[in-house]
Amino acid sequence: MVADNAADSTKEKSESTDVLTSTRTVVKTALEKLGYPDEVFELLKDPMRMMTVRIPVRMDDGSIKIFTGYRAQHNDAVGPTKGGVRFHPNVTEKEVKALSIWMSLKAGIVDLPYGGGKGGIICDPREMSFRELEGLSRGYVRAISQIVGPNKDIPAPDVFTNSQIMAWMMDEYSRIDEFNNPGFITGKPIVLGGSHGRESATAKGVTICINEAAKKKGIDVKGARVVVQGFGNAGSFLAKFLHDAGAKIVGISDAYGALHEPDGLDIDYLLDRRDSFGTVTKLFNNTIANQDLLELDCDILVPAAVENQITKQNAHDIKASIVVEAANGPTTLEATKILSERGILLVPDVLASSGGVTVSYFEWVQNNQGFYWTAEEIDEKLHEIIIKSFNNIYNTAETRRIDMRLAAYMAGVRKMAEAARFRGWV
Ligand code: GLU
Repeated sequence: MVADNAADSTKEKSESTDVLTSTRTVVKTALEKLGYPDEVFELLKDPMRMMTVRIPVRMDDGSIKIFTGYRAQHNDAVGPTKGGVRFHPNVTEKEVKALSIWMSLKAGIVDLPYGGGKGGIICDPREMSFRELEGLSRGYVRAISQIVGPNKDIPAPDVFTNSQIMAWMMDEYSRIDEFNNPGFITGKPIVLGGSHGRESATAKGVTICINEAAKKKGIDVKGARVVVQGFGNAGSFLAKFLHDAGAKIVGISDAYGALHEPDGLDIDYLLDRRDSFGTVTKLFNNTIANQDLLELDCDILVPAAVENQITKQNAHDIKASIVVEAANGPTTLEATKILSERGILLVPDVLASSGGVTVSYFEWVQNNQGFYWTAEEIDEKLHEIIIKSFNNIYNTAETRRIDMRLAAYMAGVRKMAEAARFRGWV
């Protein structure tokens, strides 16, 4: 593809890092390409419901702190809404809205009977005690209890939330609902109805996408040089899976810095030393800056941290031939264009990170039927779904000569738009 003049002239202007605007831009183009009228975009450009809640929590020092939380339900034409709850100081209403749209797209891509939902609470769990986190988790569920439920909207883990938090939330909901209700939330501990493979599911999905992308590019994952940005749930499991498959992890990072080792890092050692929030680089003094990590010489780059990491400022300096987005929204739209012009294969977030919600769906199905699958069964079903979705999207991108992000958005909105039309909404 050749850069058009419009793109060249934007080089001087500052780039939009507003994830809601960029998500809408691609949703609009995808719907146009599919031939849907404008009212379908008008329906899908925002969540159908957005709830803001204020959650009082008694802190350990005796004071009461009021937290703000959100729950966005994007669209339930296909089925109940579904998506994680994020605990992070940078959570905003706009981000939660965009994340709920992304969840709809993920569900569409892997063909789950769900729409997208997302929750977030503005807080810093790294500075909260176990007891305070329990109070916050339970308070959030009480606040949103009327709009969620196993057939309405099903929460799950996201950034800085885990199976313990899901357990407290499930318990709180079960008390409100007056019966044991494991299907209200996914990502639970196994003893409470959690599924095998859920904790590592996002990373497993990313690994499957990496294997497929590497085949297309003629790269052998065994011996490939990989950089993983972020050492949280997705990044750490991913580094382990790729390391075990014989890849050389030449760089990793956390929120405080990055490590670089051209001969490959000792991933087992790093996993052993990381804390529950994925922090490990503080233990080293030979760290490099997070931005330099992205530009390291490598074959595969996996942004697995936060939004807007690959921008028009650094997209020209990315050395990898494959970029797989394990985080939500790590590449701006302008950077997507630059990478695609440079012939770099970009596997978009809505496809690459759909393994998490796929195994969440397996968990919900198991809860509903009260009969549980083995780890092998989960793994096999996950492989089948991700490989099929990857190749559908890759082939659409090739035949239509579009990037994989747009192809993924087309796959993601198609069923939702069709369901909304059949229901007579648009
Ligand atoms: N939070 C995860 C995501 O962004 C998983 C959502 C889920 O399991 O419902 O995809």
